[in-house]
Amino acid sequence: MTDLTQATVKELSQLLQSKEVSAVEVAQAYLNKMEAKKELNAYLDVRPEVTLEQAKEADKKIAEGKASPLAGVPIAHKDIFVTKEWASTAASKMLEGYMSPFDATVVEKLKEINMVTLGKTNCDEFAMGSTTANSAYGKTYNPWDKEAVPGGSSGGASSVVAARIAPVATGTDTGGSIRQPSAFCGVTGIKPTYGRPSRWGMIAFASSLDTAGIIAQDAEDCALVLSQIIGFDKRDSTSIELPPEDLTVSLNDGVKGLRIGVPRKWMEKVAPGLKQSLEAALKQYESLGATIVDIDLPKAELGVPVYYIIAPAEASSNLSRFDGVRYGHRAEDYHDLLDMIKRSRDEGFGPEPKRRILIGTYVLSHGYYDAYYIKAQQVRRLIAQEFDATFKNLCDVIFCPVSTDAAFSFNDKSDPLSLYLSDLFTIPGSLAGLPSMSVPCGISSNGRPYGFQLIAAKCKEAQLLGVAHAYQQTTDWHKKVPAGY
Ligand code: GLN
Repeated sequence: MTDLTQATVKELSQLLQSKEVSAVEVAQAYLNKMEAKKELNAYLDVRPEVTLEQAKEADKKIAEGKASPLAGVPIAHKDIFVTKEWASTAASKMLEGYMSPFDATVVEKLKEINMVTLGKTNCDEFAMGSTTANSAYGKTYNPWDKEAVPGGSSGGASSVVAARIAPVATGTDTGGSIRQPSAFCGVTGIKPTYGRPSRWGMIAFASSLDTAGIIAQDAEDCALVLSQIIGFDKRDSTSIELPPEDLTVSLNDGVKGLRIGVPRKWMEKVAPGLKQSLEAALKQYESLGATIVDIDLPKAELGVPVYYIIAPAEASSNLSRFDGVRYGHRAEDYHDLLDMIKRSRDEGFGPEPKRRILIGTYVLSHGYYDAYYIKAQQVRRLIAQEFDATFKNLCDVIFCPVSTDAAFSFNDKSDPLSLYLSDLFTIPGSLAGLPSMSVPCGISSNGRPYGFQLIAAKCKEAQLLGVAHAYQQTTDWHKKVPAGY
């Protein structure tokens, strides 16, 4: 292979295992390209000497014949995961330069099998947002079009995979932060079932929703890496107790006889170009033997208001630890303890975390708690039950849009509310804790990628990945690379 950075995880694994290339060569190829493509501002912290050290270690394991199949394959980590060797900031001034004394479980698991870390990727501050423009360290650009947002909050992750400056990246998804940036950058992303990967060492945003996941070129690569990060972790109290699972087992199952549910009302809400691509993808599934059934998810349509109560409520509680004493930035000038905390929080947090802390504190306050927070929790339960009943009675997987259109431009949605509303298709699956993914399915007339979303029942990631793989075996949207990358 002439350009190693175009390879998939699977291809890199084969090249490394057969010793056609070394992990050091692979890492160096990526480090060179990362340096050359710095204009994307997709990486926040890069330390080539540490990366090359990890690559050497992987080469040693491979030479000894003791390596895991993914040894030596590079990966980029979202700056929400804490890492010992790279700064962990959640893209916030609050944590500028913070070096964690430990690795997040997800990072630790991938290190144990000798995957090689390329660096930390940019995101919206504390993963709050849909554009990566909320980062305190500058926005990340979409390699398809510098005017377009890369999506968010895992916009650094989707951008590095699209630009081929990482073959795979970790992301986190609380209300759509893996799926929406994947769709906007033309890459494949999966948010697994809530509780399957550990949240230990993920800087918390909304703990009942935060889920680690994977962004890669295709479903097969997602399956290979996701298999390595799921699993029970006693350090995470909401971790699901399930034995390890190889998520590649259903990749070749095909979709014959599969019932794909389509919420028709959702399809009416999207732009005409995207709608055409979604319909074409459905036709493709039909031609592969799936049955399309129309479904209705009226409760799920209440997702946005429910999410924008629950997520800020949890955020306001989680972010209270950043007081300049226990964690985070400490103001230099202050006259007493309370003033120190106030100034530290004022200087450390950007506008979006501040907004969410205010909303969250309000909905949790005495007199409003029942009307907002409790009510939202009740509706959340109804949404989860509606999905359960749909999977029990009507279909095996759900096919729907990820967003209403391809990536919008940085200046298009400047008010927070229109950004919140744009999460309408990704939030329901998050509230119900369901595995869901984004699959590239077209390109708009102005050159911006389209994606569709698949949602499955709890812990059915293997099936979900199989359904995506069936599509990718017969189409090549996931193979498109933005010009110049
Ligand atoms: N866009 C959503 C938000 O702003 C989702 C973010 C996420 O999933 N981390 O909260």
